Amino acid sequence: MKKVGLLMKEYLEILKAKIFTNKTMSWKSPKVIGGSIALMLLMGSGIVYLNSTTSAVYVVVNGEKIGLVASKNQAVEMIDQILAEKGAPWGIAAKTHDGITYSSIRIKNSEYQPLSKEELAEDISYYADGVMLTVNKEPIFVLAKAEDGEKLLKDFQEFYAQPSDKNQVTSVRFEDEVETQPVEVPLEQALSYEQALEKLKQGNLHKIEYTIQENDSWWLIARKNDMKTKEVLAGNPGTNEDTILKPGEKIILEKLEPYITVVSEGVRTETETIPFDVVTETDTSLPSGQSKVKQAGNDGQKEVQYSYVQKNDKILSQTVKDEKILKKAVDQVIAKGPQAKVTVAYSRGSGRIASGLSWPLSGRINSYYGYRGSEFHTGIDIDGDKGDPYVAAASGKVVSAGYNGNYGYAILIDHGNGIMTRYAHSSKLLVSGGQSVSKGQTIGLVGSTGRSTGSHLHFEVIINGETVNPLNSLR
Ligand SMILES: [Zn+2]
Repeated sequence: MKKVGLLMKEYLEILKAKIFTNKTMSWKSPKVIGGSIALMLLMGSGIVYLNSTTSAVYVVVNGEKIGLVASKNQAVEMIDQILAEKGAPWGIAAKTHDGITYSSIRIKNSEYQPLSKEELAEDISYYADGVMLTVNKEPIFVLAKAEDGEKLLKDFQEFYAQPSDKNQVTSVRFEDEVETQPVEVPLEQALSYEQALEKLKQGNLHKIEYTIQENDSWWLIARKNDMKTKEVLAGNPGTNEDTILKPGEKIILEKLEPYITVVSEGVRTETETIPFDVVTETDTSLPSGQSKVKQAGNDGQKEVQYSYVQKNDKILSQTVKDEKILKKAVDQVIAKGPQAKVTVAYSRGSGRIASGLSWPLSGRINSYYGYRGSEFHTGIDIDGDKGDPYVAAASGKVVSAGYNGNYGYAILIDHGNGIMTRYAHSSKLLVSGGQSVSKGQTIGLVGSTGRSTGSHLHFEVIINGETVNPLNSLR
Protein backbone atom coordinates (compact mmCIF):
# COMPACT_ATOMS: atom_id res chain seq x y z
CA MET A 1 0.00 0.00 0.00
CA LYS A 2 1.01 3.58 -0.52
CA LYS A 3 1.03 4.16 3.24
CA VAL A 4 4.11 1.94 3.60
CA GLY A 5 5.90 3.77 0.81
CA LEU A 6 5.43 7.06 2.62
CA LEU A 7 6.71 5.61 5.85
CA MET A 8 9.92 4.57 4.15
CA LYS A 9 10.40 8.02 2.69
CA GLU A 10 9.87 9.63 6.08
CA TYR A 11 12.36 7.24 7.56
CA LEU A 12 15.04 8.19 5.06
CA GLU A 13 14.44 11.86 5.75
CA ILE A 14 14.79 11.30 9.47
CA LEU A 15 18.00 9.43 8.80
CA LYS A 16 19.44 12.35 6.86
CA ALA A 17 18.42 14.70 9.64
CA LYS A 18 20.25 12.54 12.16
CA ILE A 19 23.44 12.53 10.14
CA PHE A 20 23.55 16.22 9.38
CA THR A 21 21.76 17.81 12.32
CA ASN A 22 22.45 15.31 15.07
CA LYS A 23 22.38 17.88 17.83
CA THR A 24 18.88 19.19 17.11
CA MET A 25 17.04 16.07 18.27
CA SER A 26 16.65 14.61 21.70
CA TRP A 27 18.04 11.14 22.42
CA LYS A 28 14.67 9.98 23.83
CA SER A 29 12.75 10.59 20.62
CA PRO A 30 11.79 7.24 19.02
CA LYS A 31 12.57 8.69 15.60
CA VAL A 32 16.11 9.33 16.79
CA ILE A 33 16.42 5.75 17.96
CA GLY A 34 15.65 4.56 14.44
CA GLY A 35 18.17 6.95 13.01
CA SER A 36 20.78 5.82 15.48
CA ILE A 37 20.50 2.20 14.42
CA ALA A 38 21.09 3.20 10.84
CA LEU A 39 24.06 5.20 11.99
CA MET A 40 25.47 2.17 13.75
CA LEU A 41 25.20 0.27 10.50
CA LEU A 42 27.10 3.02 8.79
CA MET A 43 29.74 2.69 11.48
CA GLY A 44 30.00 -1.06 10.88
CA SER A 45 28.06 -2.44 13.85
CA GLY A 46 26.92 -5.47 11.84
CA ILE A 47 25.91 -7.69 14.75
CA VAL A 48 23.50 -5.17 16.21
CA TYR A 49 21.96 -4.70 12.77
CA LEU A 50 21.33 -8.42 12.16
CA ASN A 51 19.75 -8.97 15.57
CA SER A 52 17.35 -6.08 15.24
CA THR A 53 16.40 -6.49 11.55
CA THR A 54 14.60 -9.08 9.46
CA SER A 55 14.52 -10.06 5.81
CA ALA A 56 11.31 -9.15 3.97
CA VAL A 57 10.02 -8.90 0.43
CA TYR A 58 8.33 -5.97 -1.23
CA VAL A 59 5.34 -6.82 -3.37
CA VAL A 60 5.58 -4.57 -6.41
CA VAL A 61 2.43 -4.18 -8.54
CA ASN A 62 2.90 -2.41 -11.89
CA GLY A 63 6.10 -0.78 -10.59
CA GLU A 64 4.57 0.42 -7.33
CA LYS A 65 5.70 -0.94 -3.98
CA ILE A 66 2.52 -2.12 -2.31
CA GLY A 67 3.88 -3.47 0.96
CA LEU A 68 5.99 -6.03 2.72
CA VAL A 69 5.55 -9.73 3.25
CA ALA A 70 7.84 -12.27 4.91
CA SER A 71 8.89 -14.08 1.74
CA LYS A 72 8.23 -14.37 -1.98
CA ASN A 73 6.60 -17.77 -1.42
CA GLN A 74 4.19 -16.23 1.03
CA ALA A 75 3.35 -13.47 -1.45
CA VAL A 76 2.73 -15.94 -4.28
CA GLU A 77 0.50 -18.01 -2.01
CA MET A 78 -1.42 -14.91 -0.96
CA ILE A 79 -2.01 -13.88 -4.57
CA ASP A 80 -3.21 -17.39 -5.47
CA GLN A 81 -5.69 -17.23 -2.62
CA ILE A 82 -6.87 -13.78 -3.66
CA LEU A 83 -7.42 -14.89 -7.27
CA ALA A 84 -9.37 -17.93 -6.09
CA GLU A 85 -11.53 -15.88 -3.72
CA LYS A 86 -12.21 -13.12 -6.27
CA GLY A 87 -13.34 -15.63 -8.89
CA ALA A 88 -15.34 -17.80 -6.50
CA PRO A 89 -18.72 -16.07 -7.07
CA TRP A 90 -18.35 -16.87 -10.79
CA GLY A 91 -17.04 -20.38 -10.20
CA ILE A 92 -13.60 -19.62 -11.61
CA ALA A 93 -10.12 -18.55 -10.50
CA ALA A 94 -9.68 -14.89 -11.44
CA LYS A 95 -6.66 -13.83 -13.47
CA THR A 96 -4.64 -10.64 -13.54
CA HIS A 97 -2.54 -8.89 -16.15
CA ASP A 98 -0.82 -6.77 -13.51
CA GLY A 99 2.98 -7.06 -13.43
CA ILE A 100 3.75 -8.43 -9.98
CA THR A 101 7.39 -8.59 -8.91
CA TYR A 102 9.22 -8.96 -5.62
CA SER A 103 12.24 -7.27 -4.17
CA SER A 104 14.05 -8.45 -1.06
CA ILE A 105 15.24 -6.08 1.63
CA ARG A 106 16.25 -6.15 5.23
CA ILE A 107 14.18 -4.03 7.55
CA LYS A 108 14.19 -3.17 11.21
CA ASN A 109 12.01 -5.53 13.26
CA SER A 110 10.11 -2.60 14.69
CA GLU A 111 9.40 -1.21 11.21
CA TYR A 112 8.12 -4.45 9.76
CA GLN A 113 4.39 -4.17 9.17
CA PRO A 114 3.24 -7.08 7.06
CA LEU A 115 0.84 -6.43 4.20
CA SER A 116 -2.61 -7.97 4.69
CA LYS A 117 -4.32 -10.05 2.02
CA GLU A 118 -7.20 -7.53 1.88
CA GLU A 119 -4.82 -4.62 1.28
CA LEU A 120 -3.01 -6.47 -1.48
CA ALA A 121 -6.32 -7.52 -3.06
CA GLU A 122 -7.36 -3.89 -3.47
CA ASP A 123 -4.28 -3.08 -5.55
CA ILE A 124 -4.74 -5.76 -8.17
CA SER A 125 -7.16 -5.68 -11.12
CA TYR A 126 -8.82 -8.89 -12.24
CA TYR A 127 -10.17 -10.46 -15.38
CA ALA A 128 -11.71 -13.72 -16.46
CA ASP A 129 -11.30 -15.78 -19.60
CA GLY A 130 -15.00 -15.46 -20.28
CA VAL A 131 -17.39 -15.79 -23.14
CA MET A 132 -19.44 -13.15 -24.95
CA LEU A 133 -22.98 -13.84 -26.09
CA THR A 134 -24.04 -12.17 -29.34
CA VAL A 135 -27.42 -12.01 -31.07
CA ASN A 136 -27.20 -11.07 -34.76
CA LYS A 137 -23.57 -10.04 -34.05
CA GLU A 138 -24.69 -7.62 -31.30
CA PRO A 139 -23.10 -8.31 -27.89
CA ILE A 140 -25.69 -9.08 -25.23
CA PHE A 141 -23.55 -9.82 -22.21
CA VAL A 142 -20.41 -11.54 -21.02
CA LEU A 143 -20.09 -14.55 -18.76
CA ALA A 144 -17.06 -15.10 -16.57
CA LYS A 145 -16.84 -18.83 -17.20
CA ALA A 146 -16.21 -19.80 -20.82
CA GLU A 147 -17.92 -23.20 -20.66
CA ASP A 148 -21.13 -21.57 -19.32
CA GLY A 149 -21.88 -20.04 -22.73
CA GLU A 150 -23.11 -23.19 -24.46
CA LYS A 151 -24.73 -24.47 -21.27
CA LEU A 152 -26.67 -21.22 -20.89
CA LEU A 153 -28.06 -21.38 -24.44
CA LYS A 154 -29.02 -25.03 -24.07
CA ASP A 155 -30.72 -24.41 -20.71
CA PHE A 156 -32.57 -21.37 -22.03
CA GLN A 157 -33.96 -23.46 -24.89
CA GLU A 158 -35.04 -26.10 -22.40
CA PHE A 159 -36.73 -23.46 -20.24
CA TYR A 160 -39.29 -22.97 -23.03
CA ALA A 161 -39.09 -26.38 -24.67
CA GLN A 162 -39.13 -28.83 -21.81
CA PRO A 163 -39.80 -32.33 -23.13
CA SER A 164 -41.96 -34.55 -20.94
CA ASP A 165 -44.42 -37.41 -21.41
CA LYS A 166 -47.06 -34.69 -22.01
CA ASN A 167 -44.86 -32.62 -24.33
CA GLN A 168 -43.04 -34.23 -27.20
CA VAL A 169 -40.67 -31.58 -28.54
CA THR A 170 -39.82 -32.19 -32.19
CA SER A 171 -37.59 -29.17 -32.88
CA VAL A 172 -35.98 -26.30 -31.02
CA ARG A 173 -34.03 -23.44 -32.55
CA PHE A 174 -33.23 -19.79 -32.05
CA GLU A 175 -35.05 -17.34 -34.26
CA ASP A 176 -31.95 -15.16 -34.56
CA GLU A 177 -28.28 -15.87 -35.06
CA VAL A 178 -26.98 -16.58 -31.56
CA GLU A 179 -23.25 -17.06 -31.04
CA THR A 180 -20.69 -17.29 -28.27
CA GLN A 181 -17.07 -16.24 -28.54
CA PRO A 182 -14.21 -16.28 -26.04
CA VAL A 183 -13.23 -12.90 -24.58
CA GLU A 184 -11.23 -11.50 -21.73
CA VAL A 185 -13.57 -9.63 -19.43
CA PRO A 186 -12.92 -7.37 -16.43
CA LEU A 187 -14.32 -9.41 -13.56
CA GLU A 188 -16.69 -6.69 -12.34
CA GLN A 189 -18.45 -6.66 -15.75
CA ALA A 190 -18.93 -10.41 -15.98
CA LEU A 191 -22.15 -12.25 -15.18
CA SER A 192 -22.43 -15.61 -13.51
CA TYR A 193 -24.40 -18.38 -15.19
CA GLU A 194 -27.34 -17.82 -12.81
CA GLN A 195 -27.39 -14.05 -13.40
CA ALA A 196 -27.25 -14.53 -17.17
CA LEU A 197 -30.08 -17.11 -17.19
CA GLU A 198 -32.22 -14.80 -15.04
CA LYS A 199 -31.58 -11.91 -17.45
CA LEU A 200 -32.51 -14.04 -20.45
CA LYS A 201 -35.74 -15.14 -18.76
CA GLN A 202 -36.68 -11.59 -17.76
CA GLY A 203 -35.87 -9.93 -21.07
CA ASN A 204 -34.42 -6.57 -21.89
CA LEU A 205 -36.08 -3.44 -20.52
CA HIS A 206 -36.67 -0.82 -23.21
CA LYS A 207 -37.85 2.64 -22.25
CA ILE A 208 -39.91 4.33 -24.94
CA GLU A 209 -41.46 7.78 -24.85
CA TYR A 210 -45.12 7.79 -25.80
CA THR A 211 -47.13 10.88 -26.70
CA ILE A 212 -50.71 10.75 -25.44
CA GLN A 213 -53.28 10.83 -28.27
CA GLU A 214 -56.86 12.11 -28.31
CA ASN A 215 -59.23 9.66 -26.60
CA ASP A 216 -56.37 7.61 -25.13
CA SER A 217 -56.99 5.72 -21.93
CA TRP A 218 -54.42 3.81 -19.88
CA TRP A 219 -56.02 0.64 -21.15
CA LEU A 220 -55.95 1.74 -24.78
CA ILE A 221 -52.28 2.73 -24.57
CA ALA A 222 -51.52 -0.68 -23.10
CA ARG A 223 -53.44 -2.39 -25.90
CA LYS A 224 -51.77 -0.34 -28.66
CA ASN A 225 -48.37 -1.32 -27.29
CA ASP A 226 -49.06 -4.95 -26.53
CA MET A 227 -48.73 -4.36 -22.80
CA LYS A 228 -50.88 -4.72 -19.73
CA THR A 229 -52.33 -1.62 -18.05
CA LYS A 230 -50.45 -2.35 -14.83
CA GLU A 231 -47.17 -2.50 -16.79
CA VAL A 232 -47.83 0.92 -18.35
CA LEU A 233 -48.69 2.38 -14.93
CA ALA A 234 -45.57 0.83 -13.35
CA GLY A 235 -43.35 2.74 -15.78
CA ASN A 236 -44.91 6.03 -14.66
CA PRO A 237 -44.60 6.27 -10.88
CA GLY A 238 -47.36 8.19 -9.14
CA THR A 239 -50.02 7.26 -11.71
CA ASN A 240 -53.05 5.03 -11.38
CA GLU A 241 -55.93 4.08 -13.66
CA ASP A 242 -57.78 7.27 -12.68
CA THR A 243 -54.89 9.59 -13.54
CA ILE A 244 -56.11 11.93 -16.28
CA LEU A 245 -54.24 11.64 -19.58
CA LYS A 246 -53.68 14.93 -21.40
CA PRO A 247 -53.26 14.64 -25.17
CA GLY A 248 -49.83 15.86 -26.27
CA GLU A 249 -48.12 15.03 -23.00
CA LYS A 250 -45.58 12.26 -22.80
CA ILE A 251 -45.41 9.12 -20.69
CA ILE A 252 -42.78 6.39 -20.47
CA LEU A 253 -43.42 2.86 -21.67
CA GLU A 254 -41.18 0.27 -20.07
CA LYS A 255 -41.35 -2.75 -22.31
CA LEU A 256 -39.62 -6.02 -21.61
CA GLU A 257 -38.44 -7.60 -24.83
CA PRO A 258 -36.76 -10.98 -25.04
CA TYR A 259 -33.01 -10.95 -25.75
CA ILE A 260 -33.33 -14.29 -27.51
CA THR A 261 -36.38 -15.97 -29.05
CA VAL A 262 -36.64 -19.74 -28.87
CA VAL A 263 -38.81 -21.31 -31.57
CA SER A 264 -40.06 -24.73 -30.56
CA GLU A 265 -42.40 -27.20 -32.21
CA GLY A 266 -43.96 -30.34 -30.88
CA VAL A 267 -47.03 -32.20 -29.75
CA ARG A 268 -48.60 -31.45 -26.42
CA THR A 269 -51.17 -33.57 -24.62
CA GLU A 270 -53.68 -31.82 -22.41
CA THR A 271 -56.54 -33.02 -20.29
CA GLU A 272 -59.55 -30.77 -20.77
CA THR A 273 -63.00 -30.41 -19.32
CA ILE A 274 -66.00 -31.05 -21.55
CA PRO A 275 -68.62 -28.65 -20.23
CA PHE A 276 -72.06 -30.16 -19.95
CA ASP A 277 -74.88 -28.91 -22.14
CA VAL A 278 -78.11 -27.55 -20.78
CA VAL A 279 -81.18 -29.11 -22.38
CA THR A 280 -84.63 -27.71 -21.77
CA GLU A 281 -87.72 -29.88 -21.99
CA THR A 282 -91.24 -28.66 -21.82
CA ASP A 283 -93.16 -30.30 -19.02
CA THR A 284 -96.87 -29.58 -19.22
CA SER A 285 -97.35 -30.80 -15.65
CA LEU A 286 -95.44 -27.72 -14.45
CA PRO A 287 -97.13 -24.34 -14.16
CA SER A 288 -96.26 -21.83 -16.89
CA GLY A 289 -93.00 -19.98 -16.28
CA GLN A 290 -91.75 -22.47 -13.70
CA SER A 291 -88.79 -24.82 -14.13
CA LYS A 292 -86.87 -27.46 -12.24
CA VAL A 293 -83.68 -29.41 -12.74
CA LYS A 294 -84.69 -32.88 -13.89
CA GLN A 295 -81.13 -34.12 -14.20
CA ALA A 296 -78.03 -32.46 -12.84
CA GLY A 297 -75.34 -31.77 -15.40
CA ASN A 298 -71.88 -33.21 -15.07
CA ASP A 299 -68.72 -32.10 -16.88
CA GLY A 300 -66.83 -34.68 -18.89
CA GLN A 301 -63.12 -34.98 -19.61
CA LYS A 302 -61.06 -35.42 -22.73
CA GLU A 303 -57.45 -35.81 -23.68
CA VAL A 304 -56.47 -33.56 -26.57
CA GLN A 305 -53.26 -33.73 -28.58
CA TYR A 306 -52.21 -30.42 -30.08
CA SER A 307 -49.38 -29.90 -32.50
CA TYR A 308 -47.97 -26.47 -31.83
CA VAL A 309 -45.44 -23.85 -32.86
CA GLN A 310 -44.27 -21.65 -30.05
CA LYS A 311 -42.00 -18.60 -29.62
CA ASN A 312 -40.66 -18.49 -26.07
CA ASP A 313 -43.85 -18.92 -24.01
CA LYS A 314 -46.24 -17.60 -26.68
CA ILE A 315 -48.15 -20.14 -28.73
CA LEU A 316 -48.13 -19.07 -32.40
CA SER A 317 -50.32 -21.82 -33.75
CA GLN A 318 -52.00 -24.84 -32.28
CA THR A 319 -54.00 -27.49 -34.11
CA VAL A 320 -55.86 -30.48 -32.72
CA LYS A 321 -54.17 -33.70 -33.83
CA ASP A 322 -56.18 -36.17 -31.83
CA GLU A 323 -58.94 -36.21 -29.27
CA LYS A 324 -59.88 -38.96 -26.85
CA ILE A 325 -62.92 -38.81 -24.58
CA LEU A 326 -62.01 -39.96 -21.10
CA LYS A 327 -65.39 -39.27 -19.55
CA LYS A 328 -68.59 -38.20 -21.28
CA ALA A 329 -70.41 -35.10 -20.13
CA VAL A 330 -73.90 -35.53 -18.77
CA ASP A 331 -76.51 -33.03 -19.97
CA GLN A 332 -78.27 -30.86 -17.49
CA VAL A 333 -81.95 -31.40 -18.16
CA ILE A 334 -84.30 -28.67 -17.12
CA ALA A 335 -88.01 -29.20 -17.16
CA LYS A 336 -89.97 -26.07 -17.91
CA GLY A 337 -93.59 -25.31 -17.68
CA PRO A 338 -95.24 -24.27 -20.98
CA GLN A 339 -94.46 -20.69 -21.92
CA ALA A 340 -97.16 -18.37 -23.06
CA LYS A 341 -94.92 -16.14 -25.17
CA VAL A 342 -91.20 -15.77 -25.75
CA THR A 343 -90.23 -12.41 -24.34
CA VAL A 344 -87.57 -10.37 -26.03
CA ALA A 345 -84.80 -10.10 -23.48
CA TYR A 346 -83.60 -6.65 -24.42
CA SER A 347 -85.05 -3.21 -24.04
CA ARG A 348 -85.52 -1.04 -27.10
CA GLY A 349 -83.97 2.39 -27.49
CA SER A 350 -81.55 4.57 -29.39
CA GLY A 351 -78.36 2.89 -28.25
CA ARG A 352 -76.72 6.24 -27.85
CA ILE A 353 -75.12 5.76 -24.43
CA ALA A 354 -73.22 2.80 -25.90
CA SER A 355 -70.33 5.13 -26.66
CA GLY A 356 -69.67 5.46 -22.94
CA LEU A 357 -68.95 1.84 -22.05
CA SER A 358 -65.75 1.21 -20.12
CA TRP A 359 -63.38 -1.71 -20.61
CA PRO A 360 -64.43 -4.71 -18.57
CA LEU A 361 -60.87 -6.05 -18.36
CA SER A 362 -57.33 -4.83 -19.06
CA GLY A 363 -55.57 -7.06 -21.52
CA ARG A 364 -54.51 -7.62 -25.08
CA ILE A 365 -57.18 -8.28 -27.68
CA ASN A 366 -56.64 -11.81 -28.89
CA SER A 367 -59.46 -11.71 -31.40
CA TYR A 368 -61.45 -8.82 -32.87
CA TYR A 369 -65.08 -8.46 -33.83
CA GLY A 370 -65.94 -9.69 -37.30
CA TYR A 371 -65.21 -12.61 -39.60
CA ARG A 372 -62.72 -15.12 -38.25
CA GLY A 373 -62.35 -17.37 -41.26
CA SER A 374 -65.86 -18.43 -42.20
CA GLU A 375 -67.21 -17.79 -38.73
CA PHE A 376 -68.43 -14.45 -37.49
CA HIS A 377 -66.96 -13.45 -34.15
CA THR A 378 -69.67 -11.59 -32.29
CA GLY A 379 -67.43 -9.88 -29.75
CA ILE A 380 -63.83 -9.22 -28.81
CA ASP A 381 -61.62 -11.62 -26.88
CA ILE A 382 -59.64 -9.87 -24.15
CA ASP A 383 -56.64 -11.76 -22.86
CA GLY A 384 -56.61 -12.54 -19.15
CA ASP A 385 -55.46 -15.13 -16.68
CA LYS A 386 -57.89 -17.49 -15.05
CA GLY A 387 -59.32 -15.78 -11.97
CA ASP A 388 -58.70 -12.19 -13.14
CA PRO A 389 -61.70 -10.11 -12.07
CA TYR A 390 -63.65 -8.28 -14.78
CA VAL A 391 -66.15 -5.49 -14.31
CA ALA A 392 -69.47 -4.29 -15.70
CA ALA A 393 -68.97 -1.93 -18.66
CA ALA A 394 -71.85 0.24 -17.47
CA SER A 395 -74.53 0.16 -14.82
CA GLY A 396 -77.56 -1.99 -15.52
CA LYS A 397 -79.57 -5.03 -14.61
CA VAL A 398 -78.33 -8.62 -14.95
CA VAL A 399 -80.60 -10.39 -17.45
CA SER A 400 -78.94 -13.77 -16.96
CA ALA A 401 -75.91 -15.20 -15.21
CA GLY A 402 -75.19 -18.89 -15.64
CA TYR A 403 -73.96 -21.63 -17.92
CA ASN A 404 -74.87 -20.95 -21.52
CA GLY A 405 -73.51 -23.52 -24.02
CA ASN A 406 -70.59 -22.25 -26.08
CA TYR A 407 -70.42 -19.11 -23.95
CA GLY A 408 -69.65 -21.19 -20.86
CA TYR A 409 -70.39 -19.30 -17.68
CA ALA A 410 -71.67 -16.00 -18.99
CA ILE A 411 -73.41 -12.82 -17.90
CA LEU A 412 -75.81 -10.69 -19.91
CA ILE A 413 -76.50 -7.18 -18.63
CA ASP A 414 -79.21 -4.81 -19.84
CA HIS A 415 -78.09 -1.20 -19.60
CA GLY A 416 -81.38 0.23 -20.84
CA ASN A 417 -81.75 2.36 -23.95
CA GLY A 418 -81.44 -0.77 -26.12
CA ILE A 419 -77.94 -1.64 -24.99
CA MET A 420 -76.77 -4.93 -23.53
CA THR A 421 -73.34 -6.40 -22.86
CA ARG A 422 -72.29 -10.03 -22.56
CA TYR A 423 -69.29 -11.49 -20.70
CA ALA A 424 -68.44 -15.11 -21.56
CA HIS A 425 -66.14 -18.07 -20.69
CA SER A 426 -65.93 -17.12 -17.00
CA SER A 427 -64.45 -19.36 -14.36
CA LYS A 428 -66.82 -17.85 -11.81
CA LEU A 429 -69.83 -15.55 -11.80
CA LEU A 430 -70.22 -13.10 -8.94
CA VAL A 431 -73.71 -11.81 -9.79
CA SER A 432 -77.06 -13.43 -10.46
CA GLY A 433 -80.06 -12.77 -12.65
CA GLY A 434 -82.22 -9.79 -11.73
CA GLN A 435 -79.47 -8.08 -9.76
CA SER A 436 -78.59 -4.42 -10.37
CA VAL A 437 -74.93 -3.67 -11.03
CA SER A 438 -72.99 -0.44 -11.22
CA LYS A 439 -70.33 0.56 -13.76
CA GLY A 440 -66.93 -0.81 -12.73
CA GLN A 441 -68.39 -3.36 -10.33
CA THR A 442 -66.61 -6.72 -10.39
CA ILE A 443 -69.12 -9.21 -11.78
CA GLY A 444 -67.09 -12.31 -12.64
CA LEU A 445 -63.71 -13.97 -12.99
CA VAL A 446 -61.94 -14.78 -16.24
CA GLY A 447 -61.88 -18.41 -17.29
CA SER A 448 -62.06 -20.75 -20.25
CA THR A 449 -65.45 -22.41 -19.90
CA GLY A 450 -67.63 -23.23 -22.90
CA ARG A 451 -66.11 -23.21 -26.37
CA SER A 452 -62.78 -21.61 -25.59
CA THR A 453 -59.13 -22.44 -26.22
CA GLY A 454 -57.61 -20.48 -23.36
CA SER A 455 -58.39 -18.08 -20.55
CA HIS A 456 -59.92 -14.88 -21.88
CA LEU A 457 -63.01 -12.72 -21.64
CA HIS A 458 -65.33 -12.77 -24.65
CA PHE A 459 -67.07 -9.40 -24.54
CA GLU A 460 -70.09 -8.48 -26.65
CA VAL A 461 -71.98 -5.27 -27.11
CA ILE A 462 -75.54 -5.77 -28.29
CA ILE A 463 -77.59 -2.82 -29.55
CA ASN A 464 -81.27 -3.40 -30.24
CA GLY A 465 -80.63 -7.13 -30.38
CA GLU A 466 -77.70 -7.03 -32.83
CA THR A 467 -74.05 -7.38 -31.87
CA VAL A 468 -71.87 -4.42 -32.80
CA ASN A 469 -68.12 -3.88 -32.72
CA PRO A 470 -67.36 -3.21 -29.04
CA LEU A 471 -64.34 -1.08 -29.99
CA ASN A 472 -66.73 1.58 -31.30
CA SER A 473 -68.43 1.81 -27.93
CA LEU A 474 -65.58 1.56 -25.44
CA ARG A 475 -63.89 4.42 -23.71
ZN1 LIG B 1 -64.79 -14.65 -28.39
